Amino acid sequence: MSEQKIKDTVPALLSWYELHARLLPWRQNPTPYRVWISEIMLQQTRIEAVIPHYHAFVTRMPNLRALAEIEETELLKFWEGLGYYSRARNLQKAAKTVLANGKEDLPETYAELLKLPGIGEYTAGAVASICFNECVPAVDGNVLRVLARLTGDDTDVLSPEGKKKFTALAKRLVPRDAAGKFNQAVMELGETVCLPNTAPKCEKCPFSEVCVAHRKGSAAELPVRKKAKKRKIELRTVLVLKTNETPARFLIHKRPQKGLLANLFEYPNVDGTLTEEKTQAFLANMGVKVNALHELETAKHVFTHIEWHMSGYFAIIETPKALPDGYCLATKEEMAQRYAIPSAFRAFTKFINSKL
Ligand code: SF4
Repeated sequence: MSEQKIKDTVPALLSWYELHARLLPWRQNPTPYRVWISEIMLQQTRIEAVIPHYHAFVTRMPNLRALAEIEETELLKFWEGLGYYSRARNLQKAAKTVLANGKEDLPETYAELLKLPGIGEYTAGAVASICFNECVPAVDGNVLRVLARLTGDDTDVLSPEGKKKFTALAKRLVPRDAAGKFNQAVMELGETVCLPNTAPKCEKCPFSEVCVAHRKGSAAELPVRKKAKKRKIELRTVLVLKTNETPARFLIHKRPQKGLLANLFEYPNVDGTLTEEKTQAFLANMGVKVNALHELETAKHVFTHIEWHMSGYFAIIETPKALPDGYCLATKEEMAQRYAIPSAFRAFTKFINSKL
């Protein structure tokens, strides 16, 4: 199927989008700031999870200045549950960079947007096309899937060659007078019609007559992605420690400034699967006195390259007179309002909220 036929079908795609675009909060008042925040939130995160976070975020931080000036601990709290916290830190870095350049708003071109921390080709393309109608593509995983299927191309979409090839194709397809609409339409098609694996709803697709994968019945095999490297498995023992005072407080720890889950809060935890004896010894070493340890259900959290397989203990502790560096005590309410505890610890947070 020729590229020209795909190009000729773009007007049908735009009409389809006008009829079927979902009403999403960032589409209702698409300022550059709001589109940027939503695009960053949507990377690696489902729309349903993003919507409530998005509302809270833009209410507390309605503009770049508010984002630049918020305390990092509070900023991370607004990101709690979305994962990949470096995205929030980069948003703030970018906001600070814009203000340091004497501006109050995001730059208006793809090239200038690309210079900001955390803004890659996809985000720069999305903001520049949607908000400033610059004729640039915005190629995310959804777009790659649609393009690979439309052309029946089995080049690995994650390889440098594949990225280059499909981005160049997207560039040739973007209509000069409707770049933002086109980019959003292809993404929407990927999210709602050209679904991954065996699920594309080709009968609802404006491209069904020109799509190679549909004609050949090969949609389920496309796009091709090289198998990701096996994740490293790390064992951890997580401790839920509640003081014997009223109101009770829980021992939490601020993670280091660099590395995985930097600057976020966590329940005390150590490498390996510790026996009760070893856990008692670890706590004694910290100056924390416990009577009995209760074993908790195991939990697992998958990061991009690592999996944590966690065991855990719960204990009531005497309120420590002094705490080691980086540790503090917080009530349930304080944890909910002030401290961002990442979803890697969700099972333990759930235990606290439902049982304690
Ligand atoms: S026809 Fe089917 S496989 Fe092709 S782009 Fe549309 S939904 Fe995807």
